[in-house]
Amino acid sequence: MISIQKNSRSVYPIIVPTRYSNVGTINSYILDDGDSLSLIDAGINTKKYKEALTLTLSEKGYHISDLSRIFLTHHHEDHVGLVNWILQQKDIPVYAHYEAIPRLMVDQEFLLMRKQFFTELYISMGCIEEAQPRLKKLQQTIDSQKEQALQTVIRPLGEGDSILGMQVIETPGHSADSISFYDEDRKLLFAGDVVLKTTSSNAIVDPDVKGNRLHTVSQLKHSLKRIQHLYVEYLFAGHQEIIEDHQSVISNKLDRMQHKANRLYSVIKEGIHHPKEIAQDLYRHKYNSEFSLVMSEVIGYLDYLEEEGRLKKSLQNGVWHYIAL
Ligand SMILES: [Zn+2]
Repeated sequence: MISIQKNSRSVYPIIVPTRYSNVGTINSYILDDGDSLSLIDAGINTKKYKEALTLTLSEKGYHISDLSRIFLTHHHEDHVGLVNWILQQKDIPVYAHYEAIPRLMVDQEFLLMRKQFFTELYISMGCIEEAQPRLKKLQQTIDSQKEQALQTVIRPLGEGDSILGMQVIETPGHSADSISFYDEDRKLLFAGDVVLKTTSSNAIVDPDVKGNRLHTVSQLKHSLKRIQHLYVEYLFAGHQEIIEDHQSVISNKLDRMQHKANRLYSVIKEGIHHPKEIAQDLYRHKYNSEFSLVMSEVIGYLDYLEEEGRLKKSLQNGVWHYIAL
């Protein structure tokens, strides 16, 4: 595997093909500063990923126990999979955004709040029946309890923090806790799943730690614009290839987002007013099989269009009804 060297810092990418969803590969990165090794994201919990990490380290003459710290770009399972396995071998600090903490620690109070949040959300979007499997899954996460939790105390990071010569930039949208690590001197950016080279990154609807619904599409748009303006030579993404032309890749993503928003707007303009029917019209084939992603997308874009002043909503028998302006 290639490694990238810049002013006494080397990056060793771990890029492992996967059949997990449609993202192609699951990536993590080793940062070698000569005197310490950091791991940015920790892949997925499979034998294949453990072997890939071990091999990448050994090719450079290192071992798992040489790692000094782990940075997490967000809490999703394909980014944190090997954290506990690494910690069993060596107790090292783990850094993540503070929004990641209740999620990674399987905090019962937070997860119960989250389940309640989704129950009310699906009722108000008119799709509570189809939501039953999703709600059941959320309950399973609550029941799975502590064995899923990270076996450590997470050190929180947020906007404005700086660590190992990298600025922490909050880049929410894909998830509430998404952060990017920016090495301005070397023009390196570790951006997690905010931007992927070939597929669009999902803006996943979620509550924040206080239970407020995040406006994920406008968050993602804002995060993309922030990243677009940074001086970056290599953008290390959580999946797929390393991006070397981030400005044009991001331009494309922003265009696609606008296109999606316009498509959803025209469906409403043509007379479909209920979120469930909008979702069925736009994603006929995926509505049932990928219910939670489809609704997430529709809700995200409804919020976005409302913020843009293009839609107005009113509650009718407990379900939102959207009108195009
Ligand atoms: Zn993710």
